[in-house]
Amino acid sequence: MKTLGLYLHIPFCKSKCLYCDFCSFPRPKEETVNAYVDALCRDLQSRGERCRGYTVDTLYLGGGTPTLLSEEQMTRVMQAVRDAFSLAPDAEITAECNPRTGDPAYFRHLRALGFNRLSIGLQSAHKEELKALGRTHTLDDFCRTAESAREAGFANLSADVMLGIPHQTKESYLDTLRALLALSPDHVSAYGLSVEEGTPFGRMGDRLVLPDEEQTREMYLLGATLLEANGLLQYEISNFAKKGYESRHNLKYWNCEEYLGLGPAAYSDLFGERFGNSRDLAAFLAGRDITAERETPSQEERLQEYVMLRLRLTEGIVEEDFSARFGTSFADRFSAPLAPYLARGLVLRTKDGYALSREGMLLSNAILSDLLDFSQV
Ligand code: SF4
Repeated sequence: MKTLGLYLHIPFCKSKCLYCDFCSFPRPKEETVNAYVDALCRDLQSRGERCRGYTVDTLYLGGGTPTLLSEEQMTRVMQAVRDAFSLAPDAEITAECNPRTGDPAYFRHLRALGFNRLSIGLQSAHKEELKALGRTHTLDDFCRTAESAREAGFANLSADVMLGIPHQTKESYLDTLRALLALSPDHVSAYGLSVEEGTPFGRMGDRLVLPDEEQTREMYLLGATLLEANGLLQYEISNFAKKGYESRHNLKYWNCEEYLGLGPAAYSDLFGERFGNSRDLAAFLAGRDITAERETPSQEERLQEYVMLRLRLTEGIVEEDFSARFGTSFADRFSAPLAPYLARGLVLRTKDGYALSREGMLLSNAILSDLLDFSQV
């Protein structure tokens, strides 16, 4: 039986953060959320029919803020998943969550529905940094949400933090991590802020004052050391976990396994095709097909994608897996562009292949673009 990662996008939030480029609509009306759940359930039913022969072993509700759904709406979604797909008994079932959504009773309900992992957005422990991001919660709100989730029986809690945000210093970033570590998270994602066009941050130009590259680099390295000293081991450029708590769903993306994403802006890689949805909420609600792009990547494109994604992982490229997949050796194929990076210690020779060092991870975009440009020559 083949396995599948299933992603359900819930595109609603209480308000819109100033840097947010995700497909999320603030302050939705209750009837819109209800209509969305109906549309999602219909989509689940029709996609499930085409996925007979697959077992869903990871389910991820992302957003947006999935925990804005009521208990009844969550129940309907999970019922539709179970009716349409074969869900593995030991599936990893994650919901993204923002502080100030959910209380112990709500989280107990999620546990009863089968959710076993919660990923909560902290971003920062500091009021002025949260305010600058347009976030409406405080550290106390985050702590209450995390404690409620633990009380309800969530044994696998993840938290998101950001680096490179306005007002942030090395010390304030480490403070954020220390405040988070006091709650013993099982997994931490630490993403750098990216300023996207079309967002309020994107429009601020020079008025947006951010830590410079060197400060962000230091935050990244010191943060990674602090997390690892507390048992959260780095397994991906921006992700850290206690042993055995790595995100099984996200590993599917980095390992180039099959996944299906439903809802506006969701992406899929299934049946040898990659396809993505538009952000057209109205069309989705009306039950129209919102597939906006579809392609069948060539073997060469698959190879490049594999290199790009696997090098995000600390495990890196495993030679044996690479040659089994592509019928060629990674070392032979990339020896010339790899050489200078190996010499500088930015790429390491591992027991089984090659991986980026932590310093190399900071320069991953440049290294990857060199490797992949070269390989196209
Ligand atoms: S909570 Fe996340 S998805 Fe929602 S507006 Fe903020 S950044 Fe965007």
